[in-house]
Amino acid sequence: MTAERAPTGLVWHERYMWHSTGVNAGIMPYGGFVQPGEPAEHPETKRRFKNLLDVSGLTPHLKLIEPKPVDLQLLHRVHSEDYVASLAQRSRAFGGEAGPSTPFGTDSYEIALLSTGGVVEAVRQTVAGEVANAYALVRPPGHHATRSGAMGFCLFANAAIAGRYALDELGLKRVAFVDWDVHHGNGTQDVFWEDPRALTISIHQDGCFPPDSGHVSEIGGGAGEGFNLNLPLPPGSGLGAYAAAFDRVVIPALYAFQPDLIIVPSGFDAGGHDPLGRMMLHSDAYRDMTRKLMDAAADLCGGRLVMSHEGGYSASTVPFFGQAVMETLAQRRTEVVDPFVEVIGGMAYQDLQPHQDAAIARTEAVLAESRKRW
Ligand code: ZN
Repeated sequence: MTAERAPTGLVWHERYMWHSTGVNAGIMPYGGFVQPGEPAEHPETKRRFKNLLDVSGLTPHLKLIEPKPVDLQLLHRVHSEDYVASLAQRSRAFGGEAGPSTPFGTDSYEIALLSTGGVVEAVRQTVAGEVANAYALVRPPGHHATRSGAMGFCLFANAAIAGRYALDELGLKRVAFVDWDVHHGNGTQDVFWEDPRALTISIHQDGCFPPDSGHVSEIGGGAGEGFNLNLPLPPGSGLGAYAAAFDRVVIPALYAFQPDLIIVPSGFDAGGHDPLGRMMLHSDAYRDMTRKLMDAAADLCGGRLVMSHEGGYSASTVPFFGQAVMETLAQRRTEVVDPFVEVIGGMAYQDLQPHQDAAIARTEAVLAESRKRW
């Protein structure tokens, strides 16, 4: 590392925390026998992530990136004008359900514009070299939102739209997405289904959410055929499975595709205590995966790496996962020690298991075929 290295960027805005997801109980709408409660997607997880950055002393070493609302012309390249207008109108009318499992409220439309705009600005500053890399700690998330609408807490396809911005307006030729959220990155896959300029990779829990989505056989269509990779891992996958998935699929795919920018839809719900996933990662795993992506980015695209916050629903552990990622991106350790590493790391079956190895081998075989088109 040289003294001239630009800082790591952090997109953050208090308004992100004011997006209301109501009083649903977990992922269930309340009513009948379901008592009103705390929604799964709520501000506290993200706020505690930001709080740990602050109390650890890391924040002053980051460059705070001020988000702006996304340009509507850019937004309309991915989402229809009808969908966007309907969301704006319904948001003014106190929200409701924007799509399957997507509660939203007053001003959620404007906050979603700011969320997408934050990821776009992170990409702009990273490509311009104003920051070395960046993490957009935005809300609402985006990787389930398809071209046609909202899904799974996501209103607009934040990361995909930022990718379109890089390709269409910044003149980049190729963008790679590595989605490590425990759920399938179906929205990013949908946006770039027929677009060979983007390699979309998703590692997720097999058959979790959305239902019947994220199969190995989904490889893209038309001109984009072969440019989508899904790696569905069995529930219970841990450190060994994710390390093997990166070493055998993700990193080789990046070197074969040669992107000009890597975007990570970053969910922390593959963590060992997450209520919406059944995986077993801890903060050292996120540290290692970040390191591997940084090394690849350094070799391939001048270190250009942007992460966009997605899921992660354990308010106690997510801040430590986020801290590990931010320390790695910023190349600066703090005094924070993650007490959950011992707990989660001590769980049985953390090593690569034969059925996990077989799942990775299936995507390896798809990669071997697909890369011939690249
Ligand atoms: Zn998720």
